[in-house]
Amino acid sequence: MHYWWKIKGISDDRTQCDCCGLSGLKRTVALMPLDAEGNENGTAEDVAYYGTSCAAKALGWRQGKVTSAALTAQHKRNELDHYARRIISIYAPIESAPTSVQARIFHQRNRYTHRPPVSSTKEVAKLLAEARAQLGDTLTGPARPARIEDFQRFTVVLNRSGSVDGVLRVPDEENKRQEQGAAAQRRAAEIRGSVRVVAALDVVSAGDVAIADDLTREWNEKAWQAAHA
Ligand SMILES: [Zn+2]
Repeated sequence: MHYWWKIKGISDDRTQCDCCGLSGLKRTVALMPLDAEGNENGTAEDVAYYGTSCAAKALGWRQGKVTSAALTAQHKRNELDHYARRIISIYAPIESAPTSVQARIFHQRNRYTHRPPVSSTKEVAKLLAEARAQLGDTLTGPARPARIEDFQRFTVVLNRSGSVDGVLRVPDEENKRQEQGAAAQRRAAEIRGSVRVVAALDVVSAGDVAIADDLTREWNEKAWQAAHA
């Protein structure tokens, strides 16, 4: 039987080659089977994890090409993770907000996309479902945090034109928190900017939330308070 494969990424967790059984590998290449037309033909359970040399044989490629294709695929997965974290940090807090709030926030963020009127509630639900599926995908590693309960607190300094100057995670200890707050205020004064404290899944998402409109930040704060009540 002849198989064709698509390289989906790199797994550091799966250290045994599904092809030859060799174990103790530093990493494996995740391979998705393809059908005769070259379409992905399977789900996560059908993915095989091969060591680089077996993957090279299966694909008829040189090892160097396998490695670089696997790195590229993994890089793309990581970028999709980053995007998913941004979507969740913005939209998860308004998931159960009134339709009018969802509509205002969604259209505010998508005002440059010219397309027929859409139901913002449906769009928000769809974006969140896709983002959660992305972060829940365990093809090349464990699921990544994706819930509001996983949000962390960040101090964001904005410059005078409202762009992000810096983002720092808020420390757990009260005295360090105060120190950070004071330092952020000094920096903001120095550049005539402002300080915003937001909740988000990561540093980049925190910047997104910090520069978002008042309504988005209001619901972000509500979600944080509700999760830590
Ligand atoms: Zn092998």
